[in-house]
Amino acid sequence: MRKLSISNHKLSGDNVIPMACPKNHDKFIQGQPDSIIIHYTAGRDAATSAEYLCKDDVKASAHLVIGRKGEIYQLVDFSTVAWHAGESQYGGRTGYNKYSIGIELDNAGVLKQAGTEFVSWFGQKYQQNEVIQAKHRNEQQLSWWQNYTPEQIEACQQVCELLINNANYGIKSILGHEEIAPGRKQDPGPAFPLDKLRTMLLTQNRSDEIPEMGMQGTVVNADLLNIREKPSIDAKKIAQPLKTGTEVKILDEANGWYLVETKVTGWVNKGFVETKEK
Ligand SMILES: [Zn+2]
Repeated sequence: MRKLSISNHKLSGDNVIPMACPKNHDKFIQGQPDSIIIHYTAGRDAATSAEYLCKDDVKASAHLVIGRKGEIYQLVDFSTVAWHAGESQYGGRTGYNKYSIGIELDNAGVLKQAGTEFVSWFGQKYQQNEVIQAKHRNEQQLSWWQNYTPEQIEACQQVCELLINNANYGIKSILGHEEIAPGRKQDPGPAFPLDKLRTMLLTQNRSDEIPEMGMQGTVVNADLLNIREKPSIDAKKIAQPLKTGTEVKILDEANGWYLVETKVTGWVNKGFVETKEK
């Protein structure tokens, strides 16, 4: 693995290219960011996307753009809010820019089949060995997607790991743009191993963080936390959302969700429940 490190909220190491993006200057508030949002650029190449996102008149940006050779452009430092999430909602919170680091990966996104080739929305053609056919988590049918390169996935994983292990940030979750803005966004799509990344970085060897059943918890970092029938964002809400400060008893844990007991019993995103010893 290559040498990468974070100092003063900036990434440094081989193939890290710092960019200037002065339009972003608002700092994260105390306790944030606590999430990483993964995106694809739907663009031509990483350099073009990074330059575009730095433009003053473009109302979008990201902290990082990762190219297909694993090169990493840093546009915005990790203490500053970037504009990558847009209208977004997850686990009872809205407007994810203020909670998250945004990582863009150079990728054309969804493709249309044309004979033996595959065409992006901007007209570029891709060959069979650069694409996969898969079903998006928010869709029913199979579609074609440009693949991600191993170098790109490894760079993304390494950066996520650095951020998670850095005490300056309290990163507890890695989400896809498609999960915080379903219906509106498809990125990073099924070609990106999002679930694998989460399993690898957020659950493995972290059994010390899985609380015992019956432990008390408090709802934090969410104005309103949805409580659902099942441990899934698609599951039915069973009651009014829980307010910040609500005391809950944790009954079970699954896939990043807690089954909690308060006036009602249901599943909530565990990222918004702070536990304390009994
Ligand atoms: Zn996105």
